Amino acid sequence: MSADTEANAVPARPPEGLVMGKEGMAALVDVLVRRGFTVIGPTARDGAIVLAELRSADELPYGWGVELEAGRYRLRQRADGAAFANAAGPQSWKSFLHPARTREWSSDRVDGELVFTADEAAPPRYAFLGVRPCDLRAIAVQDRVLTGGTYRDACYEGRRSAALLIVVECTEPGATCFCVSMGTGPAAGPRHDLVMTEVAEKDAHRFWVRSGSEEGADILAELPARPADAETRGKARADVTAAADRMGRTMPEADLRELMAGTLDAPRWDDVAGRCLTCGNCTMVCPTCFCTTTEDVTDLTGDHAERWRLWDSCFDLDFSQLHGGPVRASARSRYRQWMTHKLGTWYDQFGSSGCVGCGRCIVWCPVGIDITEEAAALHDWTRAGATAAEPDGG
Ligand code: SF4
Ligand code: SF4
Repeated sequence: MSADTEANAVPARPPEGLVMGKEGMAALVDVLVRRGFTVIGPTARDGAIVLAELRSADELPYGWGVELEAGRYRLRQRADGAAFANAAGPQSWKSFLHPARTREWSSDRVDGELVFTADEAAPPRYAFLGVRPCDLRAIAVQDRVLTGGTYRDACYEGRRSAALLIVVECTEPGATCFCVSMGTGPAAGPRHDLVMTEVAEKDAHRFWVRSGSEEGADILAELPARPADAETRGKARADVTAAADRMGRTMPEADLRELMAGTLDAPRWDDVAGRCLTCGNCTMVCPTCFCTTTEDVTDLTGDHAERWRLWDSCFDLDFSQLHGGPVRASARSRYRQWMTHKLGTWYDQFGSSGCVGCGRCIVWCPVGIDITEEAAALHDWTRAGATAAEPDGG
């Protein structure tokens, strides 16, 4: 489909949306760049689908899918040429909204006096292309955590308030996905600017696009697109419904908050502690984990110092260090803290689950620990009569 004026004259927000081809996707990236956005989207690089700055839609991973399993991630080629038929990769959008390293201030000795300088560089104006429904929910979770309380994170808020979110619904779940269990996908929820569903048919590769905000509608009006036909809408909906039926994992059908609260002394925690390396990979890849620490550094002269904020992990011994030692010294207590927070006490703090079912922690755990398998084991234990191990206090 060409970018002719007739296509551009289509009303921007018909309720049934618009359909565009691959040239429409190319135009979308061009329009976003022209509007001053830093466009971040998926691209195939270094043996993975990574999120990186896109200068053109040619950099999208057309024809690349993924094979996911516990502790395993592989790219594989796809015959249909789809760009978005690949489940969550190693990064999430928190890498851009809540960066792993941020300099908070620096100080210099000038004429014997210390002069402090806050890092106040204007945040980039991001357009996120290809946000998965589970990751859209994860952004909403981080919104509540980092900006929903008394203390608002200025770094996150500045980046988040300017960000444009373009969601792509899931039609190809991974073997480690369980968004259906968590109610976060594979169809898109609210609070996006544009949402699209990819239909990668031979000779008819197209995207069904709907706007979710005035800015999204404005951008959509600039694209070469036509009113969505019933066949495309039906095929897109059927593909998303089929994806829901092909989830690789599922959480046990239980009140997870109650399950976590009622199994604190289950012997299963010793079992998982025997496998967990406490490496913290699961917290680094999780799109909702938000903990940070601070680090002060100086140069060799001692005249220049900087304070950095870095991602931290509840699997680090230092994380719970109080005077005298760490509160959670054992692997058992650290894994239990992470999982019971994600699935249980997160509700008490933030009013929702801390897990959106993306499956990243399963894929990127070097020993393949699977949060759904651990939850199922705890559930089985409670149903079998729950004979607690001796509490170890850890
Ligand atoms: S706990 Fe695991 S599955 Fe849940 S959101 Fe975090 S990384 Fe994804
Ligand atoms: S569960 Fe896996 S990824 Fe997480 S700390 Fe343990 S070994 Fe590392």
